[in-house]
Amino acid sequence: MNYDYDLIVIGGGSGGIATAKRAAQYGAKVALIEFDRLGGTCVNRGCVPKKVMWYAAQVADTLRLAPSFGFGLSTNPSFDWTTLVADREAYIRRLNGLYEQGLDGANIERISGIGRLASAHEVKVGSRTLSAERILLAPGAQPIRPDVPGAELGDTSDEFFEWTSQPLKMAVVGAGYIAVEIAGVMHALGTETDLILRKAHALREFDEDIRDQWHSINQAHGPNLINQTLIEKLSNAEGGTLIHTTDGRVLGPYDKVVWAIGREPLSKDLGLANAGIEVDAHGYIPVDQWQQTQCESVFAVGDVTGAAQLTPVAIAAGRRLADRLWGGQADRKMDYNTIPTVVFSHPPIGTVGLTETQARAQFDTVKVYRSTFNPMKYATSQTKVPTTVKLVVEGPQERVVGVHLIGDAADEILQGFAVAVKMGATKSQLDDTVAIHPTSAEELVTLR
Ligand code: NDP
Repeated sequence: MNYDYDLIVIGGGSGGIATAKRAAQYGAKVALIEFDRLGGTCVNRGCVPKKVMWYAAQVADTLRLAPSFGFGLSTNPSFDWTTLVADREAYIRRLNGLYEQGLDGANIERISGIGRLASAHEVKVGSRTLSAERILLAPGAQPIRPDVPGAELGDTSDEFFEWTSQPLKMAVVGAGYIAVEIAGVMHALGTETDLILRKAHALREFDEDIRDQWHSINQAHGPNLINQTLIEKLSNAEGGTLIHTTDGRVLGPYDKVVWAIGREPLSKDLGLANAGIEVDAHGYIPVDQWQQTQCESVFAVGDVTGAAQLTPVAIAAGRRLADRLWGGQADRKMDYNTIPTVVFSHPPIGTVGLTETQARAQFDTVKVYRSTFNPMKYATSQTKVPTTVKLVVEGPQERVVGVHLIGDAADEILQGFAVAVKMGATKSQLDDTVAIHPTSAEELVTLR
């Protein structure tokens, strides 16, 4: 059977682009369909613009610390939201362009439009029907709003990145990565920020010590934490948006409210039924360990599969898929265990492997090593933002099964320790590693 392409990719985000490029490197004839700017959520409305905002927040924090190092800031430093946003967006446009060049350079045909499966080997884009030996679904996910009256008065993270002015007062509703990151950034940049949690804590899936430390640091230095609060509705008032809680409180008025309560897969309009594919109860596309859907010629990677919704995971899954299908590496597949991840909170959190609770449920002998200390950065300041490091080890060899950090530079420290965990490092091997002094990272090889 002759097809137009070896591979058609639906979705020009991290997973789709990575798969397309790797397949093309092996000589596959590839087309990639995207209706929006290239780069997907990560580049346009996620990791990249968020990290720019996070760096801005770090600068703001550093300016607050500057007097303790002898810097006299004669005036309060001014901050211009529009400059930051314009520079951020210019950077993202450059990245969009680089992605276009990257695809063109790899001889991947870029098709602008919305791709839908027409059959197991066919995709419809507008009036065209294209055929391929294999099809990859990588459409990603989108943020959700709750089903409460006035929900549309609140923005999602997508609209957050479109704000042209800085709100004076805002609320973030949610308890995961996005809520914690946006609330932390906006508080640091000077917006009066309420973070509204429906339960007692944010980041409930993280290790208990890290979660509690985030809570206590943020109670002292972060946004206002309003926990155990369920929202009944939002309404408009003269001074802004009001949040009405189910226990009769009225919060606000706010210039902006952001919903950060989770995301949903973009699987509805993919024409899945035309290839005999059914989504699960949450709308995710089920895949096997080879990223194959229920249809033999159709594969899926990234957020739409529901597995660890992280850019590097989508990229890794896609590249491994291409290595297997076109690169002759028959056993190559994604290992979804031991995935390191960072929350760009204030301070950042880095985590890889099992939490203490997960390890205790899984192994008979679990031991925990932890330390909380004030990094030297704060030695000369009245402000102290502590760091906590924690190792979770199992068995007589004390194999390290979890590394959890919260504190300055946790985001950069974690990667190397993730390699060690992946390699099965033991506590004594960490102890045998000479410390780098003075750093926060050295605490992880000197724990007693
Ligand atoms: P998450 O699923 O991480 O968190 C959303 C949380 O909001 C829920 O866990 C829940 O916590 C709370 N929630 C749910 N519904 C409601 C509601 N109706 N009212 C109030 N709170 C509610 O979603 P995010 O959107 O934050 O992030 C999605 C994913 O994107 C992440 O899981 C992560 O994989 C990825 N991501 C990664 C980043 C990174 O790597 N740094 C950054 C941003 C996103 P609870 O049950 O405790 O109330």
